[in-house]
Amino acid sequence: MKTDVDVLVIGAGPAGSSAAALLHKQGFKLLMVEKQTFPRFVIGESLLPHSMDLLKEADLLECVTRQQFIQKNGAVFLRGNETCNFDFSAQFTSGWEYTHQVPRGDFDKALADEVASRGVEILYNCGVSAVRFEPSMATATLTRAGGETRAVTARFVLDCSGYGRVLPRLLELDEPSKFPTREALFAHVTGDRRPQGREEGKIWVCIHPGGAWIWIIPFSNGKTSVGVVALPEFFGQYPGSPSEKLRSILESDPNAAARLNGMSFAFEAQTIKGYACSVKRLFGPRFCLVGNATEFLDPVFSSGVTLALASANRAAKVLTRELRDEAPDWQKEYGDHVMQGINTFRAYVTAWYDGTLQDIFFASGRNPEIMRQICSVLAGYVWDVKNPYVSQADRALKLLAHILRR
Ligand SMILES: Cc1cc2nc3c(=O)[nH]c(=O)nc-3n(C[C@H](O)[C@H](O)[C@H](O)COP(=O)(O)OP(=O)(O)OC[C@H]3O[C@@H](n4cnc5c(N)ncnc54)[C@H](O)[C@@H]3O)c2cc1C
Repeated sequence: MKTDVDVLVIGAGPAGSSAAALLHKQGFKLLMVEKQTFPRFVIGESLLPHSMDLLKEADLLECVTRQQFIQKNGAVFLRGNETCNFDFSAQFTSGWEYTHQVPRGDFDKALADEVASRGVEILYNCGVSAVRFEPSMATATLTRAGGETRAVTARFVLDCSGYGRVLPRLLELDEPSKFPTREALFAHVTGDRRPQGREEGKIWVCIHPGGAWIWIIPFSNGKTSVGVVALPEFFGQYPGSPSEKLRSILESDPNAAARLNGMSFAFEAQTIKGYACSVKRLFGPRFCLVGNATEFLDPVFSSGVTLALASANRAAKVLTRELRDEAPDWQKEYGDHVMQGINTFRAYVTAWYDGTLQDIFFASGRNPEIMRQICSVLAGYVWDVKNPYVSQADRALKLLAHILRR
């Protein structure tokens, strides 16, 4: 049956734009529908080196490089006077040795504009409010900001709506995350006293003495993203407005305080809570969930955008085969692949919050080869099953912490 487009892409974040770039290259007719106007603020600003491979494959690396984002060469974990400094040049998996810290308004707009310049139609200010699936096609209802609606038919729907979770909500696929509900309080600031040289663009993750952790992500525009993640009761101890709370929390961590005590807020601090989510399944007849519309674990290892790009890459490849009537095995080719990445990071997030990883990061007798293997996970190379800290992540981390604690 003839449809308006081959693929309807919901959402123009990194997942949507990169999937659209790859599918457009294969000659399919696409429509990308985005609820907001760009540039828009979204949190999630620290990329991982593996994202560079994925951007390159979608021919999107050049438009990112043109933005002159700051180079991120690694990740530094700090607890009081202890430091664990990962440099992406010291990795087990051969791959990119750097990536970027990106204000997402600029990054997402650069990707979407590039895709539009190649001929993909993007409708901004237009949300997908309903989708009806029939055996031969899907019909989506698009609702403009003013309220007018229009129907679009497609052979397939890629849900890249991130926190909008369009199809998980409409098809009742949402499942609660097994992680406890955490909260993040964040802002952009100026006046960050950064380290110099190669260290300047690294992300800092500071372990606050009260049981929270803090991110510090420097940008090339002179601003720095700062945020605190903790259980909701942690924030209750700090009085005042969101910015006053954030300032007090940063002042009460020695490492954040030393770097940020001259800072000014670029905007009032904001809160996001209950962001961890899961789904019953990742695909079905004529649809597939991609990026944050699948499962989101936790921000601690900056895995979100890389997983969004990786799932988009794989979805575009499997969908290309489907649209050419090659009957791909979605479970094997898409579901298992995406879950391999998510589950590796799940083991690290679990080990972060139960203290296993901190015992490893701040141990005195760290083995350089093992640290290279862990560094590759922090760089996003979570599909390299030759790395034992990928293929047996959970077991390997527990065993290592046990040995280092003795
Ligand atoms: C506190 C916090 C910190 C984080 N830090 C990092 C980090 O440092 N690094 C990292 O990689 N990740 C981080 N993340 C995760 C990151 O935010 C996401 O993983 C990433 O944005 C996912 O990209 P996406 O393309 O799937 O979705 P999004 O970037 O959310 O894009 C989805 C798009 O869909 C649009 N949309 C929604 N509903 C509809 C609709 N009905 N119709 C049409 N369009 C719609 C939205 O407007 C949006 O533009 C963090 C997350 C949190 C909560």
